[in-house]
Amino acid sequence: MSLDVVHLLQDLVRIDSRNTRSIRDTGPRDTDEERMSEFLRPLLVGMEFEVAVQYAAPRRPHVIALLRRDAKLPILAFEAHMDTVGFEGMTIPPLTPEVRDGRMYGRGTADTKGSMAAMLVALDQLRTADLPLNLMFIGSCAEETGCEGVPLLDLSPWPVSGIIVGEPTSNQPVVAHKAHVWFDLVCTGRAAHGSRPDAGVNAIYRMTDVIQWLRAEFIPELAGHVAEGFAGSTLSVDIIQGGHKVNIVPDRCSISVDVRLVPTAPREDEMLKSLTARIRTATGVDVTVANVHSSPGLSIDRGSPLVRALCGAIELHGDIPDVGAVSYCTDAGVFDRQGYPAVVFGPGSILQAHAAEEFIALAELHRAVDILTAAARRFATG
Ligand SMILES: [Zn+2]
Repeated sequence: MSLDVVHLLQDLVRIDSRNTRSIRDTGPRDTDEERMSEFLRPLLVGMEFEVAVQYAAPRRPHVIALLRRDAKLPILAFEAHMDTVGFEGMTIPPLTPEVRDGRMYGRGTADTKGSMAAMLVALDQLRTADLPLNLMFIGSCAEETGCEGVPLLDLSPWPVSGIIVGEPTSNQPVVAHKAHVWFDLVCTGRAAHGSRPDAGVNAIYRMTDVIQWLRAEFIPELAGHVAEGFAGSTLSVDIIQGGHKVNIVPDRCSISVDVRLVPTAPREDEMLKSLTARIRTATGVDVTVANVHSSPGLSIDRGSPLVRALCGAIELHGDIPDVGAVSYCTDAGVFDRQGYPAVVFGPGSILQAHAAEEFIALAELHRAVDILTAAARRFATG
């Protein structure tokens, strides 16, 4: 019996797969993606896929399923993250997928269970087709806390030739996005009685010098980065903490910084390495870097076989391909950094992702099945 994409999406939405905390949080936890993996495994086995599970952390599974026709053939993978954001602020029932006016409402309908349902139905249709291609499905974990899961996914046992990453892109290929790096800068001073500031070194004043340099020199430099589809790299100082008593000269100050780098910018680790040295030279202040979290950017050639296959499939179904760039991070950036050709594509609008009334248009959901099926055929035949 063939899968129905609307019923399948309803089943997926009913599964609570909220990602409630970072993968680095080792405390007692909810099941997160585990219920979703328990649903997907028998479904994929029923579709005659070989199913493997890799754990990125306790109770944080990746589901990897392969339909192997011939080990010599290339593998095309469809990937969708299994987690959703939480239900805070939602004005509709999150886990009761209601269909009305040509839409389905519920948490994850757009981000990204709609993509997942379309991918599974496309794979179900492709599995009986005579194609020179092996097919893979990846249900990944821990995306919504900053693409934490896929860096811990090991695809080395399988020679994957291309990965379509499901996110709500309104059924258009996304070939580029920025990298992000979040970090703290910390500087120290020397405490003294507030009546004798001359006896101490004020860490807040030191950090003020650093912030002034960032604003006067470094932010304009980042803004000058040139890349197609982007206005430049950015930096924003979003938290400052320092001092603890009104009559003590503060001996420590920290800022939390959000940097977004366009694909032509230096890598995020190189940027950070040079930043502390430049701050010391420019301001005389020694800063240390702490709490780094980063996710790589995406940049795939618009002429690559994967992008051409998707564009051809979109045209085949009467739409005009609109290959683009986005400002948010995805698992595709991680795959790109690992050397896999990856492109982002899926039904639904990013405006609906994480929204109070999250929904997906059913027409887009059906269209995504058709485009993914046609794209795999084109990818297989070149
Ligand atoms: Zn998503």
